[in-house]
Amino acid sequence: PAPRRAIFGGTFDPPHRGHMAIARAAADAFHLDQVLFAPTARQPLKLKSNHSSFADRLAMVAAACADESKGGSAENRFAVTDIDGPHPGGLPNYTVDTLTALRALYPGDILFSLAGADSFLNLHHWREPQRLLALSEWIVVTRPGYPLTDDRLAPLHLTVAQRERVHILTGVQEDVSATALRERLRHGDPCADLLSPSVADYIRKRALYPSRELTPERPSRSS
Ligand code: ATP
Repeated sequence: PAPRRAIFGGTFDPPHRGHMAIARAAADAFHLDQVLFAPTARQPLKLKSNHSSFADRLAMVAAACADESKGGSAENRFAVTDIDGPHPGGLPNYTVDTLTALRALYPGDILFSLAGADSFLNLHHWREPQRLLALSEWIVVTRPGYPLTDDRLAPLHLTVAQRERVHILTGVQEDVSATALRERLRHGDPCADLLSPSVADYIRKRALYPSRELTPERPSRSS
């Protein structure tokens, strides 16, 4: 049978329990042979945010995937790819290009895109949503605070045929965000409940999220 592969794009700054939970739930529910985690070098809708380097985010995702496969049975089900790495000149990474590249790489596969509810509900702001919906099936996972009701989905104007390729996975309720996590880390909390051990180690060794007092923002030139 054709391999069933999902791509899971995101900032992953850092990868946390919510990411792993949705990857696990999707892999189980949709019998995926592989979930490919794809950290995005420059997310077009987050251009102003100042994120950890692509190399650090890639390393953290690799560490999280390695911790996951230590469990045994589902070894290598999760992998990391640099397909969404930095473009020359720092141009943003568009998912439509990533999915096109992935399609060419795995022509015989059944391809899925994995996204949390908040991301998917924003799809109409992404580049070429219609092509995005054609290039892969979508697995959309519930996230607290982002109900996937019909009226929330309405702005996407899904046709009946498109709607059939969008699979909503309920049952995951992980109230965790990387933004809140970074804030806790900056306050000296190691967040062992939300990070896999190797990711927590990596963050500590590289001091990725130092407290703000240690890194005062430079005053802007106009002040
Ligand atoms: P940030 O707080 O920095 O915006 P985030 O926690 O939302 O980060 P991202 O790396 O931007 O994490 O997310 C990558 C993907 O994982 C997105 O599709 C997002 O919807 C999904 N996701 C992240 N956290 C959760 C969660 N707790 N539940 C469901 N989906 C999630």
